[in-house]
Amino acid sequence: LIEPIQRFVNFAGLYQEGITGFDRFMDILEVEPDIRDADTAVELTHVQGNVEFKHVSFKYKEDQDHVLKDVSLHVKAGEYIALVGPSGAGKTTLCSLIPRFYEVSAGQILLDGTNINEVSLHSLRRNIGIVQQDVYLFTGTVADNIRYGKNDASREEIIEAAKQANAHDFIMSLPDGYDTDIGQRGVKLSGGQKQRLSIARVFLKNPPILIFDEATSALDNESEKAVQDSLEKLTDNRTTIVIAHRLSTVRNAQRIVVLTDRGMEEQGTHEELIASGGTYANLYNMQLKI
Ligand code: ADP
Ligand code: MG
Repeated sequence: LIEPIQRFVNFAGLYQEGITGFDRFMDILEVEPDIRDADTAVELTHVQGNVEFKHVSFKYKEDQDHVLKDVSLHVKAGEYIALVGPSGAGKTTLCSLIPRFYEVSAGQILLDGTNINEVSLHSLRRNIGIVQQDVYLFTGTVADNIRYGKNDASREEIIEAAKQANAHDFIMSLPDGYDTDIGQRGVKLSGGQKQRLSIARVFLKNPPILIFDEATSALDNESEKAVQDSLEKLTDNRTTIVIAHRLSTVRNAQRIVVLTDRGMEEQGTHEELIASGGTYANLYNMQLKI
């Protein structure tokens, strides 16, 4: 229990210092402090969203086994891929390497052909939107929490983003609408409502690359439908990687990539992978309850 509180305190401290939203977010996620810009770091401009893993290996600690070993994967600009596989296979880890929450141990990740180690963290992360399984909300109003995607957003922009995220109606039903306090002493929101707020943040930020770590636990029916609908809108014209647990999310993907603890096992469309009768076909027959 202590850890989340400590994270919150750290976060509050940074907030006072006025550090930009994304850096604060990174801090709550306990990002390795030694990841910083190279002296020669360049600013990314006009990102298309081509993401390429080239022979990437990764381990969290020196004395640990590789979590990812020699993974190569090319996600083209605007493509929507579903990453599936058993728990512990490294799906979340793989995605966390793109915004450089951690450094690769070997290989490289290219964004539009440039090694991400050679671009400034700020410009890299500005181009990536993340919807986590566990949504971090902070003490403040609903509007404050959405604005976190773009510090200087107007009220109109916030409302527009909330509408796109299918969050506007539930927000309007809260005691003070967008000015309702949430967080530790405020109104309690359901998992699906929190997720829609974080989707609203991404709509506001409008990045070319989206990473969505789908909730493993069941959302209430109303929320699940709302999250699905808003996710579909969100993926339009963005490079999207969804760590998918639901069949409907997987089937919407242009390409499915299967990651197991043996590495990247197979990739293809739903039909192709079913026909080949491998890991995906087995997962599918279990309705992807993973
Ligand atoms: P998935 O998302 O596919 O369930 P993860 O990427 O969360 O898998 O985890 C892959 C492996 O890395 C697991 O064995 C997990 O225990 C380990 N792992 C995840 N996060 C950390 C961490 N921060 N430090 C050390 N090991 C970790
Ligand atoms: Mg995961």
